[in-house]
Parts: sequence; C-alpha cells; structure tokens
Amino acid sequence: MRPGYNVPMSAGLDTLKSALPRESWTEDTGVIAPYLVEWRDKYFGKTPLMLMPADTGEVQTAVKICSDHDIKIVPQGGNTGLVGGQIPRNEVLLLTKHLDKIRSVNPATHALIAEAGVTLLAVQEAAKAAGRKFPLSLASEGSCTIGGNLSTNAGGMHVLKYGTAKDLVFGVEAVLPNGDIFNGLTDLRKDNTGYDLSRLFLGAEGTLGIITAASLKLFPQPLQIQRVMVGITGIADALALLDRCRVGEALAMFEVMPRKGIELVIQHIPGMRDPFTDAHPWYALIDWEVGDSDMGLSIAESVIGAALQEGLVNDAVIAQSETQASNLLMLREHMSAAQKPYGASIKFDITIPIDRIPDFMDVAYGAVQKTVPGCEPFAFGHLGDGNIHYDVFQPENMDKDAYLEHWPDMSEAVFDVVDCFDGSISAEHGIGVMKKDDLAKRADPIKITMLRAIKKTFDPKNIMNPRVLV
Ligand SMILES: Cc1cc2nc3c(=O)[nH]c(=O)nc-3n(C[C@H](O)[C@H](O)[C@H](O)COP(=O)(O)OP(=O)(O)OC[C@H]3O[C@@H](n4cnc5c(N)ncnc54)[C@H](O)[C@@H]3O)c2cc1C
Repeated sequence: MRPGYNVPMSAGLDTLKSALPRESWTEDTGVIAPYLVEWRDKYFGKTPLMLMPADTGEVQTAVKICSDHDIKIVPQGGNTGLVGGQIPRNEVLLLTKHLDKIRSVNPATHALIAEAGVTLLAVQEAAKAAGRKFPLSLASEGSCTIGGNLSTNAGGMHVLKYGTAKDLVFGVEAVLPNGDIFNGLTDLRKDNTGYDLSRLFLGAEGTLGIITAASLKLFPQPLQIQRVMVGITGIADALALLDRCRVGEALAMFEVMPRKGIELVIQHIPGMRDPFTDAHPWYALIDWEVGDSDMGLSIAESVIGAALQEGLVNDAVIAQSETQASNLLMLREHMSAAQKPYGASIKFDITIPIDRIPDFMDVAYGAVQKTVPGCEPFAFGHLGDGNIHYDVFQPENMDKDAYLEHWPDMSEAVFDVVDCFDGSISAEHGIGVMKKDDLAKRADPIKITMLRAIKKTFDPKNIMNPRVLV
C-alpha cells in the first residue's frame, strides 16, 4: 500500500491501472510535475495517479471505478484556469489532452463537434477551414481547451457581439459522476423538451461530471475586420467612446489598457512596439466586423474622427493591413504575460454595471490603498462587457511574499466595493478554490442552497472536483 492512502483508495488505484491501457495513466512524478502547478504559480498540487484517457469510453471506465472506490477526481484541460480549480490536492488527476478529435463540422447547420481536449485555437482553425467562425477568443487560446472553456464559461474579447462560452454551445456529451454518459450532442436550435441539461455543465468547473465533447455553434465568417487603437485620457472617455462605437451590430471588441500595460509589453515581450508617437494615459482597442474594407474604413474614420473633434480621443491608429491589425492585438494579448516580471500582484476579475465603472475605480483605489498603502492598481480588459481585470501590484519596496499574504484582506476590500456597486466577484475566470469562501459568504443564500442541491443530486459521493465552487 502506498503511504498516505487507505486500503480502498489504494485498491481503487490498482483497479484503475489494470482497467485502462498502459499509455492512459502514469505515476511518473517527472511527467506529472508540470500539471501540478498553474500559470500564475499560485497553486501547487499533488496526485497519486494521472489519467490520460483516449476516448469517452476510457473516461467512463475511469469514473465508474472512482465512484465505486470513492476516489476523488480533478479534471484538467489546458491548465490555463486562473482560480486553482484544475490543480489536484491528492485527488486523481484526469487530463483530457488525448480527447483531441474534431468529430464533425457541418457548415449547413453551423455546428462543429469537438472533443473536450481540443484547443480553442484548433477549433477556430477548423471552423475557418469550413468557411465559418467560432468566435470565442482568449489570449490563452493556443493552450486552453474546449472542455475547460465550457466548464469555466469563458468570456474573452468577443463577448460584446457573440456572448460567453455558454452562448456558443448546442449541447455537450459528459460522463456523470456515477459513470453514466449524458449525450446532449445536437445541432438543433430549437428543442423544448424540458430542462436544458447541457447548460448545467457550463460554468460547473468540473463539479458535475467530465465534459468529453461539445457541439459548438459556428457563425458566418465576417468579410472584413476593421481594427483601431486609440489613445485616451480616462475611463469615462472610454465609456463615452464605446457608446459612439456601437454602429448597428458591427462592434465586436472594445478592450482597454493602461499606459503602464503598454510599457510592460514593450519592455518584456520581444518584437512589440508602441504604435503611437506620444504616450497616453489609457488606450482602447476596437474591432468592427463589416462587409468590406471600404465600409470598415468609413465607420472607423467617421466614428473616430468625430471622437477626436469632441476631445474623447487624443490620437488614433487605424489598421490598414492584417499585419498591422495583428500587431495591435498582440499588445492586448500579452498584457497578462508582461505583468509577470514587474512584481507580485493580487488579481481580481470583476464585472460592474458599465455606467458605474469610473466611480468604482475611484472608490476601489481608496479601498486598496487603505489595505496596503503604496500598492499600485492596474486595470485592463473587456470594458465593453463591464469586465475589469483589476490587478493590484505590490508597493515598490515590499517583499513579494509579505505582500501576497494580503490576498484575503485585499479581496475583502475589493469585493466589498464590488458589492456596493452591484457587481460580480467573478466575471469570467470562475470560482475555483480561490473564491469559494467569498462566494459562500457573499452570494444569495438561496442561490447557494440551489447550487449545493444540484451538486448533491448529480454527485452524492462528492467525487467530482470536490474542493471547488460549492
Ligand atoms: C494569458 C491568459 C489569458 C486568459 N484570458 C482569459 C479571458 O480573456 N477570458 C476568460 O474567460 N479566461 C481567460 N483565461 C483563463 C483560462 O484560459 C480560461 O478559464 C479557460 O477557459 C480554461 O481552459 P483550460 O482548458 O485551460 O481549463 P483548465 O485550466 O484545465 O481547467 C479549468 C477548470 O475547468 C475544469 N475542467 C477542465 N476541463 C474539463 C472538462 N473536460 N470537463 C469538466 N471540467 C473540466 C477544471 O477542473 C477546472 O475547474 C486566461 C488565462 C490565461 C493564462
């Protein structure tokens, strides 16, 4: 028997190993190590066994055995989650990386069925090859997986036009905690036959079962994307500009970045350069999806020209080619990576009713300064959705670890302000391990009771990702 595990767990692990093909599991600590730490180096895990099932049948076999032996499971996709939900702490780790097939693409029904471990980028490319668009778009898209995207109800840069991950799904296939397979793969846009069970898995963070495949909604390819980056003075001006940018259904992205973010990207990411001659306190990155390049240029020139005259915008770069558009996007996509060398930060992913964001920023500034004097707030992200990534950097001369000890009191301070502004403590990253206590404390008690009742119905033995969400 392995030290640290009781008899049933050890027997269960042996049963798992003998039931699955040799290449579908490993105990090699060297192989497992990279899967036990997440992107921000905030959570470090431990597992007795890592499973890498090749198909839904193998997932079913593994889950049934775990259920019989009361073995707890943590599912992991691309390991880009930012709230610790994919990192095991003695549970069995189940990787979906070998569930990597695109099962079908149907341009006629605008549906694509992908297995859970297919990366978001691979889905986007498969859709494009079929003359369609899958609009979910995150800076982590080369690594994150469809299973992870749906389980976290990911957002990203095109929510403004297309919604979050849950708006982009017809249905899912999932292995339930007792090993049964729920088959919700469909491409029907209308199906009023009771509760929409597939949706229960969206945003469930692996607590109700393992998504093994999903039928995703595709869209027509936009003929032209017109991208513009503008320099602005403050968030209030950005909000006014956002309003001007809503031209019919064309607006697809409206992201904001502070000057500090542009400086960090230029300093730390090779090949990045400032597209402006002068520095500006804030920047907005805007996309319109339109019929052709003339239409794109005409919208950009008229909207931004008027905003320049009104004084809402200080300067503008209108992308004239795909390369230029892609270089502008890179500045936004590297915003998280470029922060890493700058120092420790306590990170929040919040939504505020959009018209209250400028006031929120003022009140939150006071609250974080009161908690750790000299700290440096750094806000960026999906302003068009009211979603701010509000990161608070350590004061210049403070020890990194000493600063990070303030995570709980900083959370308390920021979340109190979020509550005052009727916002949400998690806009898109989910609850995971990180915000579980905050959710329990701050959410409507009836909501918590309902979440727990659903969890208990599906997973009475609490074997599926037992430490996250509820
Ligand atoms: C640089 C960077 C930028 C990011 N930008 C954004 C952004 O703009 N918007 C956004 O929403 N997020 C963003 N994220 C967060 C992250 O990429 C998303 O949460 C993503 O959806 C996670 O996918 P994943 O495959 O990496 O999941 P993982 O990290 O592996 O897992 C995340 C959660 O889902 C569960 N899970 C994973 N696969 C399954 C499955 N098949 N079945 C059941 N449960 C499963 C895990 O147990 C865990 O709880 C970013 C992350 C990084 C590092």
